[in-house]
Amino acid sequence: MWLPYRGRTRGISGAQHISTLGLTAAYYPCCRLTVGRANVGGGDDVNAAVTNVGERPVTDRIPEGRPRADGVSEFPTNQPFVLDNTTCPYCGTTVTRGSESDKEHVVGRKFVPKGTLYQSWNLILRACRQCNREKSDLENDLSLITMHPNVGGRFASDDLRLRAEVRRKIGRAISRRTRKPIAAGEEPFIIRGSLGPMQMTFTMKMPPQAEEERLFRLARLQLQAVFYFLTYNRQTHQGYFWPGAFCPLISVRREDWGNPHLRWLEAQTVGWEPRFFVITADGFYKAWIRRKTDANLWAWALEWNQNFRLAGFFGDEAIARDLVVDLPKLDVSSIHETTSKFLKVRIETPLSEGEDRLFSIADTDAGP
Ligand SMILES: [Zn+2]
Repeated sequence: MWLPYRGRTRGISGAQHISTLGLTAAYYPCCRLTVGRANVGGGDDVNAAVTNVGERPVTDRIPEGRPRADGVSEFPTNQPFVLDNTTCPYCGTTVTRGSESDKEHVVGRKFVPKGTLYQSWNLILRACRQCNREKSDLENDLSLITMHPNVGGRFASDDLRLRAEVRRKIGRAISRRTRKPIAAGEEPFIIRGSLGPMQMTFTMKMPPQAEEERLFRLARLQLQAVFYFLTYNRQTHQGYFWPGAFCPLISVRREDWGNPHLRWLEAQTVGWEPRFFVITADGFYKAWIRRKTDANLWAWALEWNQNFRLAGFFGDEAIARDLVVDLPKLDVSSIHETTSKFLKVRIETPLSEGEDRLFSIADTDAGP
């Protein structure tokens, strides 16, 4: 599923936690974009927003990075980065202090278990009220869905803060799919079929499901904010949108982290230039962005609450489409099929900790 990038539809394991935030030395800006209306996701032309810089005090709080041998700079992860930005990173509308603008935490404070963002990296900036509200609404149920234990009752991590947060949220968050509170867990999944003369009904249980479109919409917002930061200009107090499309590829639960499509993306992009890498919220939030050399194409991966992983591309859609031609075929079998209906299943592919390298960029890219 590829979402077009246009107008107001904005938007993107328990392994050892590495306390590192990496950006390329040239993170500021990471690329030069020709910014015009075509690249702006709705709202005002960002060029028009530059005019009102005036004598406002500069209150960006971005600490100095420490360059490493491999060209990546490390930044302290015990404090948030704060931008004094003048445009909404999600829609491009002008935002100013005291106007219709809100403080926006890119890693939502209630999106991860309570307490995990304390003295931790986050990106705090200003967003317009409408985008802020839209993002909070996405976070409301997706935070619980991504923290929820699997059908066997197993949590993604033994961290007690995770269990406490699920207890707090259960019954309060409303599933956007079923319009009911996400209560004690599973959604029934009923299959009716016939085998010869017999009519059969199977009822299976699933953990609460998220609409994939909403998962990717939240992913897109988070990535937009990070990209805005990567291209942020401290004189004009604004960053940019990526040129091109948002191309989500996959979202999987922990049980399926070994999914061939996710492993394919990892293998394809491992040599791309790292642009951004973070593990924060005590390992409950992970993200990276890499750029294909000499192309306006970026790959990205996110991990939410040590449970959900999402990945894909943004930028030049034609190049991305050329790449995905080589996606491996998934092993799908049909368990029920008539001329008009079918039900296909695929066994999830777990990933052992030893094989899990998706977010170990800090090790693999380190120079001698
Ligand atoms: Zn906005």
